[in-house]
Amino acid sequence: MKTRAAVAFALNEPMRVMEVDLAEPGPGQVMLKMLASGLCHSDLHLLEGKMSQDFPFIPGHEGLGEIIALGEGVSGFALGDHVIPYLVPDCGVCVYCTSGRTNLCVEYGARRNSARTPFSLDGAPMRCFMELGTFAEHTVVAADCIVKVPQHARPDHTCCIACGVTTGLGSALIRAKITPGSSVAVFGAGGVGLSTMQGARIAGAGRIFAIDTNPAKEAVARSCGATDFINPWEIENVAEHVIGLTGMGVDYAFDCVGNAKLAEQALEMCHPAWGVAMCVGVVPEGQSVSTLPTKLLTGRTWTGSMMGGAKRQDVARFVDMYLAGEFSLDEVVSHRLTLDEINHGVEMMRTGESVRSVVLY
Ligand SMILES: [Zn+2]
Ligand SMILES: [Zn+2]
Repeated sequence: MKTRAAVAFALNEPMRVMEVDLAEPGPGQVMLKMLASGLCHSDLHLLEGKMSQDFPFIPGHEGLGEIIALGEGVSGFALGDHVIPYLVPDCGVCVYCTSGRTNLCVEYGARRNSARTPFSLDGAPMRCFMELGTFAEHTVVAADCIVKVPQHARPDHTCCIACGVTTGLGSALIRAKITPGSSVAVFGAGGVGLSTMQGARIAGAGRIFAIDTNPAKEAVARSCGATDFINPWEIENVAEHVIGLTGMGVDYAFDCVGNAKLAEQALEMCHPAWGVAMCVGVVPEGQSVSTLPTKLLTGRTWTGSMMGGAKRQDVARFVDMYLAGEFSLDEVVSHRLTLDEINHGVEMMRTGESVRSVVLY
């Protein structure tokens, strides 16, 4: 069938919204009519070459759609179901999936740079990021990555749980397991950082420092649970400043921007004995982090979080928490766009004008 998609043809060029061909779902796959897709910083990284990707391709991995066709052998899902195609597959049989210790799956790596795709253009295969391609009106995805969501979950908000929200909430609740009364610092008040703050608030953190260079983010950060807002441009040394305010440093520090220098500062500002510093944002390829071994000898933990450590059932749980009013996405989803306006959304992400833009189909 024909569908419309935003196609990235070259680095740092606007995507072109155009008609492409989409194959029928094969065994173990479903076809989705997309309802909404958020624009994530990883999409920007791909478009700017900060994450490797073969062009041309269809970006988009933060979507919500309706099942309109089922491939052979798909069970547990029905036509009309609303689902999130989740970035992290859940094959159920690999060494990761059977360990019960991680959200990784060998299929994740297999799909990261996969040439398999349901899309084509003039007979030539057209790749899509993570075999998802949610910047298209329709897509075909593997059923092992979809999460059923209630029909009344509004697509413009709920789609963000597919990536940014789950990454932030999961980092706070699943990976860090923040304890009540603890102190938390979060670099970056974008979609992921704000969700990390909301996770810290849900966990009962006593003090939450939001750190962002854009003073316009203070109000939204506070609405997501931040008790303090720090603009690094107004302070000489952010790590020393946070240590000064907490006595010995925070219990948890998250780099949600994805920047090696900030990841190092997160380690610096966390408590020497039990502080946990976590890399959450995707650091552009080519950057590396370093520290003095003594920083770790005292007991700090330096770790990371891939999609907040969340598996499919965690994504479903976060949707339920959202529907129960445990956290809000009113301030997080700042702009709604048509597919034809998608490049404007990319530009607003680049300049920091938007918190989260969502394409509504
Ligand atoms: Zn993402
Ligand atoms: Zn697996």
